[in-house]
Amino acid sequence: MFQPALLSAFESLETPFYYYDMSLLHKTLDLYTFCLKKYGYHAHYALKANANDRILDAMRTAGLGADCVSGNEVALALQSGFSPDKIVFAGVGKSDKEIKTALEGNIFSFNVESIPEMERINELAAGMGKVANISLRLNPDIDAHTHKYITTGLAQNKFGISPWMFGEVWEVLERSKHLALIGLHFHVGSQITNMSVFKTLCERVRVLQQWFLDKGAVLSVVNLGGGLGVDYQSPLEHPIVDFASYFDIIHKNLPLLPGQEIHLEPGRALVAQSGFLIGRVLYVKKGKGIKFAILDAGMNDLIRPSLYGAQHHILNLSSAGRMMRYDVVGPVCESSDRFAKSVLLPQVSRGDFIALCSTGAYGQVMSMRYNQRDLAESYYSDRLLP
Ligand SMILES: *Cc1c(COP(=O)(O)O)cnc(C)c1O
Repeated sequence: MFQPALLSAFESLETPFYYYDMSLLHKTLDLYTFCLKKYGYHAHYALKANANDRILDAMRTAGLGADCVSGNEVALALQSGFSPDKIVFAGVGKSDKEIKTALEGNIFSFNVESIPEMERINELAAGMGKVANISLRLNPDIDAHTHKYITTGLAQNKFGISPWMFGEVWEVLERSKHLALIGLHFHVGSQITNMSVFKTLCERVRVLQQWFLDKGAVLSVVNLGGGLGVDYQSPLEHPIVDFASYFDIIHKNLPLLPGQEIHLEPGRALVAQSGFLIGRVLYVKKGKGIKFAILDAGMNDLIRPSLYGAQHHILNLSSAGRMMRYDVVGPVCESSDRFAKSVLLPQVSRGDFIALCSTGAYGQVMSMRYNQRDLAESYYSDRLLP
């Protein structure tokens, strides 16, 4: 993957930067869209995972819609050429301005998360003489068995509408003339690697949708959200997620009603493995019982390790030396600016290129200018290599 021609191309670039393997991205998308077609499902790419223009182009060209969690994401999706009838908008705290952006854009659906939000969208839609399509984001109260900061489908989380609210939700729907219920939405968390979570989700969907069907609702959309996890430990061995199993589980456990469509919102699983944060070693410093490999890339470029204790696989692209242990750290003035503790790497020297793998999702998009550091540039394999 990191052949000599690529490394010599890296020589002329200022580090740190994000590198995207476009051929891996396209292979991943090809397999994903193959599965979509096989089952006739629809997908909206979760923009928040990575909103670089090249990535958005690839998603749109592959026929995916856009899953947005802010008004600016809705505006970006529209501006990037996503068809409005393939844009969905979720989030617990949509402001008036954001709701108006989405109403003006005539998006496919608002994934609504609360009764007061339904009332507000109804009022704003009335003011604009429109009817807003909505899907109710239900809280299925299932444990995604993932990091506590990225589990969203438990009753104690802030997301979604719980069964005890259904009666009131129905009353609000009946009197809200500017809302049209088109379906149900779920999203139980992120980085889910235990596929049985999706089976449980399908089972919950069948139970929960019955309440609405009994009321006479027409649920043409069942949106299962995103959350499919990637292999952070062995990204080179498992560059593409087992989409076939994931689709198969949904197909087997969620039989569709006549006229019903399944929608999905993949984020991480489509982009994580194609992205690499590339930095160089500034100094190798002796510590107490450990050596520090101090990089020119820091938590401002990739915050996942500091934010959720995420562990990204690390490669020394410049050395085939003896394996030694290092704490790999960044230059930012925070002790949490550390990418790995006591990790084995081929002997590290000043100037070596270090790759942090699986950083295509929730990497660059979360970067910031803390310490007044520059934002990392993006480079794409098809433009770096002949
Ligand atoms: C973040 C998010 C997604 C994408 O999640 P991944 O874990 O990246 O697949 C999908 N839907 C909603 C509503 C989200 O908030």
